[in-house]
Amino acid sequence: MDGSDSKTEVSQELTDGFHLIIDALKLNGISNVYHVPGIPVTDLGRMMQAEGMRVISFRHESNAGNAAATAGYLTRKPGVCLTVSAPGFLNGLVSLAHATTNCWPMILISGSSEREIVDLQKGDYEEMDQLAVAKPLCKAAYRILHADDIGVGIARAIRAAVSGRPGGVYLDIPASLLGQVMDAETGARGLIKVVDPSPAQLPAPHAVDRAIDVLKGARKPLLILGKGAAYAQCDAIVRQFVERTGAPYIAMSMAKGLLPDDHPQYAGAARSLVLKESDCVMLIGARLNWLLGHGQGRQWGERFTKKFIHVDIDPKEMDSNQPIDAPLVGDIESTLSLMLAKMDRWAPPPADWTEAVCAKRAANVERMAPKLANNNVPMDFHGALGRLKRIFADHPDAILVNEGANTLDFARSIIDMSRPRKRLDVGTWGVMGIGMGTAIAAAVETGHPVVAVEGDSAFGFSGMEVETICRYGLPVCVVVFNNSGIYRGTDADPTGRDPGTTVFVRESRYDLMMQAFGGEGVTARSPDDLERAVRDAVASGKPTLVNAIIDPEAGTESGRIGNLNPQSAVQRN
Ligand code: ADP
Ligand code: MG
Repeated sequence: MDGSDSKTEVSQELTDGFHLIIDALKLNGISNVYHVPGIPVTDLGRMMQAEGMRVISFRHESNAGNAAATAGYLTRKPGVCLTVSAPGFLNGLVSLAHATTNCWPMILISGSSEREIVDLQKGDYEEMDQLAVAKPLCKAAYRILHADDIGVGIARAIRAAVSGRPGGVYLDIPASLLGQVMDAETGARGLIKVVDPSPAQLPAPHAVDRAIDVLKGARKPLLILGKGAAYAQCDAIVRQFVERTGAPYIAMSMAKGLLPDDHPQYAGAARSLVLKESDCVMLIGARLNWLLGHGQGRQWGERFTKKFIHVDIDPKEMDSNQPIDAPLVGDIESTLSLMLAKMDRWAPPPADWTEAVCAKRAANVERMAPKLANNNVPMDFHGALGRLKRIFADHPDAILVNEGANTLDFARSIIDMSRPRKRLDVGTWGVMGIGMGTAIAAAVETGHPVVAVEGDSAFGFSGMEVETICRYGLPVCVVVFNNSGIYRGTDADPTGRDPGTTVFVRESRYDLMMQAFGGEGVTARSPDDLERAVRDAVASGKPTLVNAIIDPEAGTESGRIGNLNPQSAVQRN
């Protein structure tokens, strides 16, 4: 090489696939990445960190993916999970499918092998046709082969994730893409800052009029708020709408707190009554799926006597279970605003309806109160959750992460939420294992204290991430409801050979797991102990695990969905 050649090389600024991916994400306001390092993305993670992105490294991709899904739900920007090829990619897929099922924006970026080798099945390190595998499990899937396509690839992934009904997107990054070098200026010109990534979608005026007519005609209206309404982040408009109608409302689990659970119109404690007796149901960002008994059956009262109004961004959701009298296809903010503009002199529903609902609610709350105040040892679910309820009342900004069977069902109805998006749980599928990933993302994205209330079985799926919580010093208090088993801790192997299929080591010391990594670990045997330990943890912000010993007899099989278990008709001895 002569002197002049080396001079031109030095003066030409270069970039490469690594840096273009980072620049494209940053350009679009994505600053956090949930990650498990390894070939071929180890350096990508390092460089992201060096370039100022927040990179949280996990112990398992499933948890990193759940964190990304949660970040998407909380921020309305795609949560990004970055994994290695085949096994890491496959581990990330459950959360990608979970995000898609929940309608949350997420991008799973996985490193992969070269097309030439994969397509001829020549047997590469971790060879797999990942794009083909991902396609049926997400909203969209793309592969970028050339560095000058990185701008388009990231832009498409972002738009696909957040526009319309949000969902998961897979982005395939072959290893060789990362090292492809190009002129920096050309590279920068190819990047795209996505304009208006989730455009407003307005329902037609006649659809709004039809919905208003149906609602006006109701004598016993009921509103159901779902997590789509919480995701929409138009809290003031939702509240104004609910209050303008004067109708009782119930909140699906993650919509709790959209209006405070002590709101006078909240009918959560009169749920059976309002589902059965209402004559008009308006769904706002909630699907009429299994979580609502498909809108039919005994809990809904007589068939075809109710009218349905449904607000959803996805037209295909309409009539998915029941005929919808007034479909409102649009985003919640635009749709409710348009309705409000036409509801100036709105008469509240007949008083006999609202008063009946209030009376039922008051009676149920009163019946529950003594159960929640118990200080029994061994603890039962009510005694333990009664104390956590008080703590959340004193810390309205604390985020509750919740999974398990009984632990989930009881906590959902017992712990009131008073602010939006403060309750994060197992979502539409009821996924066990979301706990630590969700808690970590909640802490990283919001900076608020997080209390993860976990069944002992559910905790086991992601428990190793307590190390991640300690490593990043996150303000997460994990409360393990330790009843020594799945559902209950009382099963036995009828042959006497092995432990019963649903039991764990009795009174396991989960508290020591957190101590092993430098956090606090406490065992609580009484509601008093539990309350003290969790209050200390929330006040200190230190990573803490409270091992709450619960009576193994206290729960029921599958919590409140035991009816979904098939029964064998055969008796063998
Ligand atoms: P839940 O489980 O709380 O009942 P679902 O996940 O079943 O809630 O329903 C959420 C619904 O909200 C989905 O059908 C989704 O299409 C819809 N959705 C999400 N974001 C919006 C939005 N901005 N505007 C309107 N609908 C939305
Ligand atoms: Mg258990």
